[in-house]
Amino acid sequence: MSARIEVIETDITRLKIDAIVNAANRSLLGGGGVDGAIHRAAGPELLEECRKLCGCNTGEAKITRGYRLPARYVIHTVGPVWRGGVRNEEKLLADCYRNSMKLVKKYRLKSVAFPAISTGAYGFPSDKAAEIAVRTILEEVDIADMVQLVIFCCCNSECRKYHEKVLEKLRNG
Ligand code: ADP
Repeated sequence: MSARIEVIETDITRLKIDAIVNAANRSLLGGGGVDGAIHRAAGPELLEECRKLCGCNTGEAKITRGYRLPARYVIHTVGPVWRGGVRNEEKLLADCYRNSMKLVKKYRLKSVAFPAISTGAYGFPSDKAAEIAVRTILEEVDIADMVQLVIFCCCNSECRKYHEKVLEKLRNG
């Protein structure tokens, strides 16, 4: 069965879902933006578990429990810092989505929500990032038969519109 893919505009920490993805940094010890919001909502136990993971390379992903979040798990992935597109940023961003989906499948999760990885402090252009995010997920869900729902969770209307536009474009041909 192919997964339903949705674009919504809300705070990702509020979603009652199997897993939310965190746009973390390589230390996995918390930061600003969505990372800070997830740690605040999950409570100090999340940081305790993250300490044991010994960081994470750019493009890779690691999983923890969700603690006080409504989500059961948090998948921590490290997006690339945008440096004009000449440092392999596009492939590394696709790796984030691909490696996060690998964990979704490994843990047999049915639903997952992604923030717009790298588009905040890391400066990746939002339109380009949305194209990579949607394209990579469409490639992954075909073979991910346990996954029933993938959400792109945006926190502003610009982000939502970019994802909706790409999703429509890629679905129709
Ligand atoms: P990065 O360092 O990967 O750029 P940021 O957290 O700075 O990560 O931003 C990633 C994206 O997450 C941005 O589009 C930002 O607007 C968005 N964001 C920030 N807080 C939240 C939240 N609570 N829920 C969903 N998206 C969020």
